[in-house]
Amino acid sequence: MPSLRRSSFSCLIGIFVCLLGAPAGAGAADREREPFFPRAGNVGYDALRYDVELFFRPRNDSIRATARIGALAEQQLARFSLDLFGLEVSAVEVDGEPARFTRGRGKLKVRPRAPIRRGAEFTVTVRYRGQPETVTDPDGGHEGWIKTNDGAVVLGEPQGTAAWLPCNNVPADKALFQIALDVPARLKGISNGRLLQVERRQDRRVYTWREASPMSPYLAVIDIGRGRLLEQRIAGRPSWTLIDPLLEKWSLPILAELGEVIRFQERVFGPYPFETAGSIVDYAPGVGYALETQSRPIYLFVPDLTTMVHETAHQYFGNSVGLQRWPDIWLNEGFATWAQWYYAERHDGRGAREIFRTLYRVPAADAEFWEPPSGHPGSAKHLFSTSTYVRGAMALEALRIKVGTKPMLRVLRSWVAAHPYGSATIKLFIAHAEQVTGEDLGPLFQRWLYQRGKP
Ligand SMILES: [Zn+2]
Repeated sequence: MPSLRRSSFSCLIGIFVCLLGAPAGAGAADREREPFFPRAGNVGYDALRYDVELFFRPRNDSIRATARIGALAEQQLARFSLDLFGLEVSAVEVDGEPARFTRGRGKLKVRPRAPIRRGAEFTVTVRYRGQPETVTDPDGGHEGWIKTNDGAVVLGEPQGTAAWLPCNNVPADKALFQIALDVPARLKGISNGRLLQVERRQDRRVYTWREASPMSPYLAVIDIGRGRLLEQRIAGRPSWTLIDPLLEKWSLPILAELGEVIRFQERVFGPYPFETAGSIVDYAPGVGYALETQSRPIYLFVPDLTTMVHETAHQYFGNSVGLQRWPDIWLNEGFATWAQWYYAERHDGRGAREIFRTLYRVPAADAEFWEPPSGHPGSAKHLFSTSTYVRGAMALEALRIKVGTKPMLRVLRSWVAAHPYGSATIKLFIAHAEQVTGEDLGPLFQRWLYQRGKP
């Protein structure tokens, strides 16, 4: 996320002065409850695919949509629920049969005409409309549906996708997504993955996008607005980029570096995990962060190179190797931040070791810097704390200092290869690192990830 979510860590490559302005389970019955967002997620099924058509009316910032959700019943289901914030649901069908439904705090509760048997695949069709809401996170950040001067930007980490799509809104329940955006002809609509077609309907255009690799709901993105939709090949794969005209001139030279960023990371971490690439840049003052939306990160400011490196690294760490639970966010943010340091090291910037040494001089009394420990953020409010990123990246550099650069890179590369399109935990990572290096790393990770105060 936000990568730089809530903050701009760009200058970390230099030093951490800008930090002052900073900060800003699985699919089913056997899934552990999500500790940070206990109301998110639903039991009894595994979502397999979302196919949504969304008609957008900018005049009153409203949508009219139909979502078809394919799922696998993991137990017999006399009823089930989906996460959905606000909006007016007009009809629900299960396998083509009308179903009864009710609404409850953040939920759409469905009772099919007959129970769905365990092991069956079924399709839920939901028709809904209204003005989708902007979600304010426990840390004060904004996500969900955000109106812009020329359309909307739609972000999901960690909870916002339920503002526009009925879904099983936990990171571990990954699914395939097809998103069709019906927008006025003067606007463009972009989302994740491949552009399948652009259909002309009088004064409207329908942009249909498909993400072909399993995706956590929070990584879905929509951006609607003015701008040129660029179709290119970047690092050998089809790529689409949409840039708000207000930011285009300054953004283009940075975005042109994406090919080199991907190629570098392929050499370091292994094959880029997704079939498409590209970028989205939109003008949304007041949002202030970038997000690693799958296959196509979004920047709500003129991107800089190190932020692009961070968001691209998330395609491996966070998107392909996903989270089982939000408290393990270090696996995303610590890794993407370390990837920025390593990129700088190999491209005439400061070495990661030097950044580590400089940061290690921050006094223990600076609790904001060292707390909470990266492996134990404690609550949703601290999910995207400075320490999640910076102390988190220092933990990886500490691993590198202990085991050496080559073994450290072997750990990262084999970690990506071991969990493609999956969901992992910190515990699994520690076991993996010990297995690859043959070292006892328990004390090191205990100190860097879990110990209170300066390690
Ligand atoms: Zn990030």
